[in-house]
Parts: sequence; C-alpha cells; structure tokens
Amino acid sequence: MIDLNGKAAIVTGGSRGIGRASVVRLATQGADVAFSYRGNERAAAETRDAVEALGRRVVAYRGDVTDPSAANALVGVALETFGRVDILVNSAGITRDDLLMRMSDEAWHAVLETNLTGAFYATRAVLRPMLRARRGRIVNISSVAGQAGNAGQANYSAAKAGLIGLTKATAREVASRGITCNAVAPGFVLTELTEVLPESIREGIRSATPMGRFGAPEEVANAVAFLCSDEAAFITGQVLAVDGGLVMM
Ligand code: NDP
Repeated sequence: MIDLNGKAAIVTGGSRGIGRASVVRLATQGADVAFSYRGNERAAAETRDAVEALGRRVVAYRGDVTDPSAANALVGVALETFGRVDILVNSAGITRDDLLMRMSDEAWHAVLETNLTGAFYATRAVLRPMLRARRGRIVNISSVAGQAGNAGQANYSAAKAGLIGLTKATAREVASRGITCNAVAPGFVLTELTEVLPESIREGIRSATPMGRFGAPEEVANAVAFLCSDEAAFITGQVLAVDGGLVMM
C-alpha cells in the first residue's frame, strides 16, 4: 500500500488529463498537493474540489511553466502552505504537430519551452528544499515519442527525449541526497491532448498497440504514485513505459 500521508506534492499541469489524475491519486494516497495550470479555471476548480473531497489540502496555482519566476512562486506557495515539498511531478505539456519541413519556429520553441524548459525550471526550484530535507521524488512525464520518435512531432519528440536526458542527469546529481528522479513514458492516453486526433489515426494507434487500446490517465497516475512512494527508494534515472506494449526497449 502506497502511503503518502504527511507528504506534500507539486504537480505542474494538474488541472486536466494525466496531471489531474496524478494529483487525485497522490491525494488519495494521503499527500497534500499544490498544482499549477495555465488558464483553464473551470478544470482547475474541478481538480481542487476532487482533492478537497478526499480531505487533503490543495493549492491551485495559475502560472505558466515557461516562466521561471512562476516556478519559484509555485514552490514558494507550497512551502508556505504545507511547510515542505516531498514530490514534484512535471506533467504540463502541449503539442503543436506539423511535418518538420513546414514546422514554424514558433511551434518548435513553444513545445520545447513548455515540455522541456518548464520541467527544468520546476526541478531547479524544488531542488533546494529537497536537498535540505535530504529526500525527494521527481517524476517527469515523457512519452513514447521521446523514446521512439513520431512523424509529425519533431518538436514534441525532441522535447520528450530531452526530458529523459534531464531525468538521468538530475538522478545522478542528487542520488546521494536521497532524491530520486524518474520518467514515465505514456503511450496514447485518452485526454484532451489526444481526443483531437482523427479517427483514422486513432485506429492506427490502437492496432499498433499490443494491448489494442488507449490508456486511461489513471493508469499513468498509478505508475507516478509508485515512483513517488517509499517503496521506489532504490529506483532512479529510469524510464517506465505505460503504453500497452507499444515501445519495448
Ligand atoms: P492535457 O492537454 O489533457 O492537459 C495539459 C495540462 O497541462 C493542463 O493542465 C494545462 O493547463 C497544462 N499546461 C499546458 N501548458 C501549460 C503551461 N505553459 N503552463 C502551465 N500549465 C500548462 O494533456 P495530457 O494530460 O494528455 O498530457 C499531460 C502530459 O502527458 C504532457 O506532458 C503530455 O505531453 C504527456 N503525454 C500525454 C500523452 C497522451 O496520450 N495524452 C502520451 C504521452 C505523454 P490548462 O488546463 O490551464 O490549459
């Protein structure tokens, strides 16, 4: 049984999808949670209500992960409210798909800034309190696209592969201080990010996935919760695929 009672977590991009499922799962296991979101107030309120219903403390922080001062402020508000930060989950992410030869500079930079640089800012901000406490859990939500690449997603694949490099470098830097850093690489999961895909592409994904279906956000959150637990203390620098067998390395 994963016991996160007395722990405090930060989740970026916690208003919807995999981020929200992670917030709710961590709270279910006993953690208080501060989560960030970019602008969807209604979704953020739903996530906040779900945590409150579980009897845990929650902070919904509106802030852009591409802004380093917002990362510092998010960690600051979590420390003020909970007095500690034990867990960071970097889940905020976007896609701006296009073929490489016509991908705009803007689409490239937006995806790199949000999915990769955003995780760097949040990790840097959280390390000081974690190093002082000599404990911590960091989980980065990468993707099968970061492991295997995906046509039409050069920006996203580069960002998610970069996140795996960031995960491993962070893991090596802080392992001796009781802090672990791992990545989860989801396959295709039904969220607002993937519901815009045309049915022909969705059918292709289903047939390429050995388990023959999309995943649920809660199935990714199960892996996140495990990697945040005391039981995962000797696991660091790893990439855990939650993808129905899509990528086997
Ligand atoms: P959703 O689109 O459902 O949710 C995205 C979340 O990120 C929202 O909470 C959104 O906030 C937040 N967000 C986006 N941009 C920013 C920003 N600049 N600053 C702060 N918050 C931001 O996405 P998913 O749940 O599907 O994806 C979550 C993560 O999982 C992403 O990193 C994604 O790349 C990854 N992933 C998803 C897969 C899938 O199949 N769905 C597969 C593999 C990886 P708001 O609600 O305010 O807009």
